[in-house]
Amino acid sequence: MFESLSEKFSSAFATLRGKGRISESDIDSVAEEIRLALLDGDVALSVVDQFVARIKERSMQALPEIRKSTNQSQEIYSIVNAELVEILGGPARRIRFAKNPPTVIMLAGLQGSGKTTLAGKLALFLKEQGNTPLLVAADLQRPNAVTQLTLLAQSIGVPIHAPEPGNGSGNPVSVAKSGIELAKSKLFNVVIVDTAGRLGIDEELMQQASEIKGAVSPDEVLFVVDAMIGQDAVRTAKAFEEGVGFDAVVLTKLDGDAKGGAALSIAETTKKPILFASAGEKLTDFDYFYPDRMASRILGLGDIATLAEQAKKAIDGDTAKRLEEKFVAGEEFTLEDFLEQIQAMKKMGSMSKILGMLPGANSAAMRKQIDALDDDELIRTQAIVQSMTPTERKDPKILNGSRRSRIAKGSGRTVTEVNNLVDRFSAAQKMMKQMRNGNVPGLKTTGGMGLPPAMAAGMPSLGSAANKIPPKKKSRSGNPAKRAIEEGR
Ligand code: GDP
Repeated sequence: MFESLSEKFSSAFATLRGKGRISESDIDSVAEEIRLALLDGDVALSVVDQFVARIKERSMQALPEIRKSTNQSQEIYSIVNAELVEILGGPARRIRFAKNPPTVIMLAGLQGSGKTTLAGKLALFLKEQGNTPLLVAADLQRPNAVTQLTLLAQSIGVPIHAPEPGNGSGNPVSVAKSGIELAKSKLFNVVIVDTAGRLGIDEELMQQASEIKGAVSPDEVLFVVDAMIGQDAVRTAKAFEEGVGFDAVVLTKLDGDAKGGAALSIAETTKKPILFASAGEKLTDFDYFYPDRMASRILGLGDIATLAEQAKKAIDGDTAKRLEEKFVAGEEFTLEDFLEQIQAMKKMGSMSKILGMLPGANSAAMRKQIDALDDDELIRTQAIVQSMTPTERKDPKILNGSRRSRIAKGSGRTVTEVNNLVDRFSAAQKMMKQMRNGNVPGLKTTGGMGLPPAMAAGMPSLGSAANKIPPKKKSRSGNPAKRAIEEGR
């Protein structure tokens, strides 16, 4: 969602990088560019003013030191990054579990903000971490909210307390209370209470949410807000804070094409942390909110940490271990491994979402490439690899003309496509070697197989990106063993 913001930040820094020595007026102009970018991104004016003032103040103060640096623009970049993390809420926060279970989590927010969907996502997230959540259907207002939550609960195998059909009838306070009693008696350790919202802020809504809060004394009241509503998110949050009170924010619909204003304004204006972020309609499109990762995305550095985590989840434990051992031992990465990674990537979601997390993904050129990608490319690539014999997959060097033409026929693709894939695969192999040598900036921290090289080879755009990685300097070592390590053999 931060494409345009990220592009503007990148262009502000590109100008700065062009300067060898940074002056006070350079700081003023980069600050002004950032100010305009944030205003255009629908960030609240008060937040923009404070943010820009802090950047200027810190940069000016540090200027004598910055001038000693060999990379002066990088120093300013670090200041902006640190301030971005700060306005996004500082260090990531986690759910506060009650000392005596059950931990009660109440969801509040406007109708349509994604509360009910979020109840399901949160329940699944907690269940996967070994908790025993109970869902409580206390949104008795919105048509079908109870049915929707019941279906969600069934699909994730989480029990639900839904004694009232809803659709305008029943008492939500007693439903919430009896839900807590049930959790206590059946020893569920977390209770998630879904409550009603209205299309706009109104007295009755606030009153009902307050009553539920009073009746169940939640450990966490989470204010759920649609990130796509921009500035309105801040106004709604303030109204909820006054009318009901909440402990943390959950941003939903971060996958939308909104400008990012809500995410950047809400923590600073409400002084409440953003606890979770939801970025898609699937139940797994959900995670803790990491201010540092978000700042990194805004600054065009991508979100390698999340990408690596998702890759780890998608590749099952045994495969990951085997691939990691191969990687560490310096064994050749084969088309068999490649195929496994393609299958894992298919589990990770849409291609543009995955690639959007790579550094530079928000640059105009890369965006164009990503937008042009179609998810069927993975399927086509898989078909080609599956038409190869196990020997060919292990050693693609034997793929002569007639073999390639057989594979093309077998997979229903053209010989050119087969050739392209083989070329991209070789590029990925090279990339693997460079990753092993810690030679690809930003990828060192991913922990071996955390980031599938299939990502680089699976798609035409990134295949060529892999080719663009600067070649490793020639080894100077006279020791053959050492040289082999240096060359990644
Ligand atoms: P509620 O009225 O607050 O309970 O809202 P719902 O949970 O019914 O969500 C409203 C709509 O937003 C539904 O169509 C959801 O599928 C959709 N939705 C919820 N969360 C997300 C998200 O993170 N991304 C996207 N794109 N859609 C979402």
